Formats: sequence, C-alpha cells, structure tokens
Amino acid sequence: MRLSNYFLPTLKENPAEAQIVSHRLMLRAGMIRQTSAGIYAWLPLGHRVLKKIEQIVREEMDRAGAIELLMPTLQSADLWRQSGRYDSYGKEMLRIQDRHEREMLYGPTNEEMITDIFRREVKSYRDLPRNLYHIQWKFRDEIRPRFGVMRGREFLMKDAYSFDLDEAAARRSYQKMFISYLRAFSRMGLKAIPMAADTGPIGGDMSHEFIILAETGESEVFCDRTLVDMPAPGDEVDYEADLTPVIEQRTSLYAATDEKHDAAKFEADVPEGNRLSARGIEVGHIFFFGTKYSEPLGALVAGPDGKDVPVQMGSYGIGVSRLLGAIIEASHDEDGIIWPESVAPFKVGLINLKSGDADTDAACAKLYATLTKAGVEVLYDDRDERAGAKFSGMDLIGLPWQLVVGPRGLKNGVVELKERATGNREELSADAAVKKLI
Ligand code: ATP
Ligand code: MG
Ligand code: MG
Ligand code: MG
Repeated sequence: MRLSNYFLPTLKENPAEAQIVSHRLMLRAGMIRQTSAGIYAWLPLGHRVLKKIEQIVREEMDRAGAIELLMPTLQSADLWRQSGRYDSYGKEMLRIQDRHEREMLYGPTNEEMITDIFRREVKSYRDLPRNLYHIQWKFRDEIRPRFGVMRGREFLMKDAYSFDLDEAAARRSYQKMFISYLRAFSRMGLKAIPMAADTGPIGGDMSHEFIILAETGESEVFCDRTLVDMPAPGDEVDYEADLTPVIEQRTSLYAATDEKHDAAKFEADVPEGNRLSARGIEVGHIFFFGTKYSEPLGALVAGPDGKDVPVQMGSYGIGVSRLLGAIIEASHDEDGIIWPESVAPFKVGLINLKSGDADTDAACAKLYATLTKAGVEVLYDDRDERAGAKFSGMDLIGLPWQLVVGPRGLKNGVVELKERATGNREELSADAAVKKLI
C-alpha cells in the first residue's frame, strides 16, 4: 500500500477524551473513530489488525475442532423469554421493535439462538460432540462505555458453544477450549492467565476468565507468579489426547478474579514471594453450564439407551475487538504502538527519505514491488514529507520493521533496517534487506 493512496488520518496531539494509552494510540494512529458513545468505525489500519486477530482466533478454534457458522445480530425476544433471560438481562440489552411491533433485540450473546438452532437439527447422541462458533458483533448497552474498544457498546466477539451427551464429555470440550485460548492469546504475543471466575448472567458451575495483566485493567486479580510466564501449549498439542495434565498444571496454582478470591487460601497456598495481586483485562471467558439452556429450551438428544436427555453445554467468548486495546496496553513505548508481527497491520514500513529524487524513488519502487510480490505486507511512505515526520509516523503506527531508503545510503549501496521493538538499526544492501524480510 502506498501511503499517498491510503486513508490513514493520524493525529499529532493526544486526544483529550482518551484516558488510557491504548485508546490514545488507536485514535492517534488512525485506527478507529467514535461514531457515538461506545460505538466505533474501524478505519483501514485498525480494520487490518482486527481481521488478523480474528483469523488467529479462527485458526485456533478450528484446530481444536470447533466449526464456524454465522448467526445474525438481531434476535427475537421469544427465545429469551423461554430461557427466562429476557427480563433478567436488564438494561444492558438493547431492545428494538420492528414495524409489526414484534420485540427484537441486538444480541449481547447467543446461547438461546444456538440452542434453538441445535435443538431443531440434532436428536441423537451419535451427532455429538459438536462445538459451533461465530465471530459476530454484539451489543451491550454498557452503563459506562470507556477506554475506546476495551469497553464498547458494539464490539466484536468470538463465541463458541459446545454440545455433549454427558458431563464428562462436556468437560473435555471445555478443556479443548481452555487450551485453544492459551494458544490463541500467545500467538498474539500476549501472556494470558486463566483464572477461576464468576459465571455472571451466563450461569453455570465451572468458569475461567483469561486475563492480561495491565494497570489499566478493570478487574482485580490474584495469582501465583509462576503462571505469568508459563508458556502456552505448542503446535504438538494433541486435542484427542488426555488434556487434564496440561490444564491441571495451571489450575493447581492459585489464580482468581476478585469475585472468586479467597484471601486465606491465597496466603496458605502461595509462598509470599510468589503472590501477585494486580489489575487485569478480561480478554476471554469460558463457561460450563450443563443444562441451563437446554432444559428450558428443550434441546434433547436420545442417548445410547434411547432415552432423551437435555444436552450438556458450555460457552466460550473472546473479546476480539477488546484484544486490540489489550495488545497495545501490553506493547507500546513513548513513541507509539509496537505490534507483534502476528497481528501487525503491515509487516514493513518502507520510508522514502527523498520522494521526487529519481534514484531513491526507483530503489523504493523496486523494494516495494519485490517485497509485495513475495507476499510481505508493506506500507510505503512515498509522500513528499519531512523525514522526521515520516519516522515519527512510522513509530506511532508501530509496524515491526522500518526499511529506510535515502540518496546518501544508496550512494554507498546500503539501506537501513530498523526493528521497531528494539530500536536496533542495521545498514545492509537492498538485497540483504529483502532476504531478511521475506
Ligand atoms: P466485562 O466483565 O469486561 O464486562 P463480561 O464478563 O461481561 O465482560 P462476557 O459475557 O464474559 O463479558 O463476554 C466474553 C468476552 O467479551 C469478554 O471476556 C470480553 O473480552 C468481551 N467483552 C465483554 N463486554 C465487552 C465490551 N463492552 N466491549 C468489548 N469487549 C467486551
Ligand atoms: Mg460485562
Ligand atoms: Mg467479566
Ligand atoms: Mg466474562
């Protein structure tokens, strides 16, 4: 992408409405713009990151055996009456009437709808287990939308729903999601800690939140420090094997959100030097809730003995749009964002130090063409701008690599490659730079 053709409205000044660094940087880097309270338009740069995060989540869900579908944002109130949540959900639910005065709502979550889809089609244990997910916009009329996309009213969520014949099988489904979450967050460069959590309005008796430690986080959390740097299961993970040891390695160590926190147990179980009490961002939440929805909605399956039983369910959410904020909170410096390569909007920022100079333009055009052809995503700053403005703009948007090309270097046969995360700079030939970036 040539910057001269792009839509990247960056801001030099800090916007007054943004209280935390990720919100400030997302506005300044031209990633989002608010259209009304807690509702954002995703500008091209933000949109690219959103899609990358979505794709990592999708790959890890698929790898764990979940199946993607897409449910609508608008739902009928009827199903929510059957589950009893239409009244209990309260003001966070945006309620709408259509022209026939039918009551509708903008989905804050999809347990009812997926249970309805499932109950119409699946009648036998032979079709179990299944795990169905979608990545779809949700609406919650948060009383205090704030911190940009961290607590929006409209936000993108991945939500998965598992269906099993009995509790033991349902626990396995839960374990698969637990591991796929560890892997997904780790691929985004995040250290997510699973913590025992309250189930809230979803209900159920087993639940973990996945927490990113950050001072600006809205949750108060307590855990054993050992969990912070525990690596996620690697590519070798076998979802058909017994996953209990991997899960227990983590759940045997103390980790709880404030609703579940037990100070006496924390002190008894965790040596003092390992006790970590901190703030965190909830980026994912998994629940096992058995028959909470299948029973009232009549989602029954015939077991091997021919008897109908309500299906055992769990649900599994990831805050896809919130993750952009969480990643920036975890990875930035005073100059701007530092994207992990896996979610970066572009891998390379190509900086032309003297646009209009025939040799520099030609060298840049060649680098741009070669890298693009090799599948490397390049944002080429070809504008007629001061070098200083180009450097600070690139630092702000945080692409992992900056490839700097100017007439002086070219005379000596070199370009400069800067790594955003470390600030390390290296002079090398254009060919060597290309080799390094491909
Ligand atoms: P919170 O405690 O932050 O209000 P929640 O517990 O109400 O979140 P869940 O119902 O568990 O949220 O939804 C699954 C995931 O969706 C959360 O873990 C979070 O990452 C994301 N999420 C929830 N509410 C919002 C929001 N208002 N804006 C952005 N993401 C959200
Ligand atoms: Mg909430
Ligand atoms: Mg919560
Ligand atoms: Mg939650």
